[in-house]
Amino acid sequence: MSVKFEISFAKTVRLNGGLAIQLKDTDSESPAGAASADPANVFAKAARIARFTAKGLASLDIVAPEGAPVDRIIVIGTGRAKELNAHSWLKLGGAAAGRIRNVEKAAIFIDLPGVQAGGKAAADFALGMLLRAYSFDTYKTKKGDDEDKNGAQKPVKVTIVTPDAAAAKKLFAASEAIADGVILARDLVNEPPNVLGPVEFAAKAKALEKLGVEVEILTEREMRRLGMGALLGVAQGSVRPPRLVIMQWKGGKVKEKPVAFIGKGVVFDTGGISIKPAAGMEDMKGDMGGAAAVTGLMHTLAARGAKVNAVGVIGLVENMPDGNAQRPGDIVTSMSGQTIEIINTDAEGRLVLCDALWYTNDRFKPQFMINLATLTGAILVALGNLQAGLFSNDDQLANQLTAAGLVTNERLWRMPLGKDYDKMIDSKFADMKNTGGRYAGSITAAQFLKRFVQETPWAHLDIAGTAMGSTLDEINQSWGSGYGVRLLDELVRENYES
Ligand code: MN
Ligand code: ZN
Repeated sequence: MSVKFEISFAKTVRLNGGLAIQLKDTDSESPAGAASADPANVFAKAARIARFTAKGLASLDIVAPEGAPVDRIIVIGTGRAKELNAHSWLKLGGAAAGRIRNVEKAAIFIDLPGVQAGGKAAADFALGMLLRAYSFDTYKTKKGDDEDKNGAQKPVKVTIVTPDAAAAKKLFAASEAIADGVILARDLVNEPPNVLGPVEFAAKAKALEKLGVEVEILTEREMRRLGMGALLGVAQGSVRPPRLVIMQWKGGKVKEKPVAFIGKGVVFDTGGISIKPAAGMEDMKGDMGGAAAVTGLMHTLAARGAKVNAVGVIGLVENMPDGNAQRPGDIVTSMSGQTIEIINTDAEGRLVLCDALWYTNDRFKPQFMINLATLTGAILVALGNLQAGLFSNDDQLANQLTAAGLVTNERLWRMPLGKDYDKMIDSKFADMKNTGGRYAGSITAAQFLKRFVQETPWAHLDIAGTAMGSTLDEINQSWGSGYGVRLLDELVRENYES
């Protein structure tokens, strides 16, 4: 059951019933805003009884005494105030949102005793709330108590109280753009594969036109003319035709080269003729997580009016076994002219990406290319669900990405590339083969992609562990996490906006 918030900011608030949320760090006596919400100071007694020490994200729920200006007070611990960073504010917002139930309004005091949070912290806190509030319940016909028969809800009116209310309100516009981009990516990943095929996905991308994004959709015929034999080989086993979507946001200077983001969009991956085992195959509806992140990012950049020229290119196909499906042993010719021997039809993501990368580089000559893909199970073996694998031919880009990962907590771990790994995908019969075997499976996949980027600065993010089924946390309770949108928005904001 989801909650909707209508968030506003104010310097002060007149309390009149409802919920008050206050923060407390480990070093101060009582929570901020205590004087107004808790005149009888029941906090001290409640904290003693509950052994509440204000350690990070711990909470204390107090029924306000008679005569108090609110009905309920929730105190959330922040740990040590001086250790708070940008991501802490998101998590605190998420933690607060997760505790708001069955109320019409809530006042949230985010300044700590002796620490003024500031407008940016308030906007980050609000972003955390929006991300936490998301849940994907489109296909649940039984609605929660607080929803009417159409599933509509009365939003909870939230006032975030901060002396920097004006600054917070301004910054919140970007928070909303980010939240909407993440939520779009989550929705795309969560949608069932019968509903979201390549054509339907392309239509969702087309909808970004209302934000000023230019969107082109290439059909099979056009891709055939361009020579995208690798991508088309994957698609040929499905009755659903493939699409290549090109999204352009022109927020930068006219002559400035664009930054480019490329996404793997396998709307469902059965493995093809090299079919996967049945257990867990339903998760392969999320094999378009890279394309979802690129689409979500383009939404965010456009919605917040980012001063950058950005291109998003997504390759949308379905990988099915069929009488017409591609076989192991087939040799296909990519748009680059390089030939590829298919060893395993389940190593299809790189076949989609290699044509999308070549096309992007050839047409746009971008400053850099970053591709996102739920590419290998091997990256889960290496890094679990906690970090994405980062592969790059450019140290500066890799360092910028790693830094953005730390700020947003969408973390990346850099993995190696090298000539000796590259050799592992040489083929007896063609220029290369599409797998290098079990060992170093994530790395040989990256080496494959690297053969299609030439000298352009490039990074490949293997998000198979982070785009879906990652550990739930304060700001994400959804299977499809939307990983990558915040990361890349931060990368652009910090390094590439004019
Ligand atoms: Mn596969
Ligand atoms: Zn796949």
